[in-house]
Amino acid sequence: MNPHTSRTVGSVNPVTETKRKTALRTIRIFVQYSFLLWVVGIGIRFGLFINSVDSGAAAPLVSRPPGVEGFLPIGALTSLKYWLITGKIHPVHPAALVIFLTIVIMSLVAKKSFCSWHCPVGTLSEAAHKLGQRLFGRNFLIWPPLDLLLRGIKYLLLALFVVFILLSMSAETVVKFLNAPYWAVSDVKMLHFFTHMSKTTLVILTILTVLSLFYKMFWCRYLCPYGALLGLASIASPFKIRRDASGCTGCRRCTTACPSGLEVHSCTAISSPECTGCLTCVTHCQERNVLAMQPVFWKQRLSIWVFPAVVVLVFAAGITAGMVSGNWNSSLSYADYQRLIPLVKNLTH
Ligand code: SF4
Ligand code: SF4
Repeated sequence: MNPHTSRTVGSVNPVTETKRKTALRTIRIFVQYSFLLWVVGIGIRFGLFINSVDSGAAAPLVSRPPGVEGFLPIGALTSLKYWLITGKIHPVHPAALVIFLTIVIMSLVAKKSFCSWHCPVGTLSEAAHKLGQRLFGRNFLIWPPLDLLLRGIKYLLLALFVVFILLSMSAETVVKFLNAPYWAVSDVKMLHFFTHMSKTTLVILTILTVLSLFYKMFWCRYLCPYGALLGLASIASPFKIRRDASGCTGCRRCTTACPSGLEVHSCTAISSPECTGCLTCVTHCQERNVLAMQPVFWKQRLSIWVFPAVVVLVFAAGITAGMVSGNWNSSLSYADYQRLIPLVKNLTH
């Protein structure tokens, strides 16, 4: 059966469909903010752990949360190269690689859904442009040719990382980097990036925040190399937003609402690496069964809940697999941190 003809077969009444779309919106917000809180919790816990070291305590107040390694994507890329060369996961920050691989697999399966369902930066960017909408009555659009050019920046940054780390770094350099004290305390350096913010960092973050008020997802759309990588991986995802042109009124609500600035109203399927799978277009369409996130191989109309379930389950499965396989906790002990943290300021590479 053609998925586009199945809309007439669906027995869902308009009120139920509207309720489902509202519930879908609420659930994504719930997942986003739960994850944000979890990340903040990880940051606080790691801060307390480091504080124990700084205060000279014989034992940590709390154990170190391995999830903090999610903030080390460049090291994770180096760790990936080590894994590819040796077949082993480097033990110093194994969770960095587990989180990285989980997110890439999520993109291969369910679009760039990490960006719109989990990533704290994505959540805060979305909150910023919604605040901007309230303050100025709307968000602003960048002149399309310039928009296209700016979108290329994140792919350029990604290319630099791929060339310098995956392609050019020798096996010997990779091993040296991962065994060095710099990599061991890179999590501490990352914490200091937020807690001991330099003036330059503060200015850059302020500029990005202001731009995010005016322009939807400014960082994600133009500058995030991680998002660029996930976008390229997402091309392989079987899930695509599909539009039934026969039921579409051409109202353009989907296009206006899309945080990635995609022309949803004029496509039959969205294959763009910019689509984050946020389902905002689906929840804004007022027609029944016109827009849906469907796997390309599945012809029947799927329940609206399948995609969110896949997103949450793949993420949970990846992290659980890392934990169960013993590739989650760092090999570094509290004593190692006591020895290394006094050196942090002097470690540059
Ligand atoms: S096309 Fe739809 S799912 Fe994709 S980014 Fe735009 S609003 Fe989100
Ligand atoms: S919101 Fe729905 S009806 Fe309106 S243009 Fe988009 S797909 Fe068509």
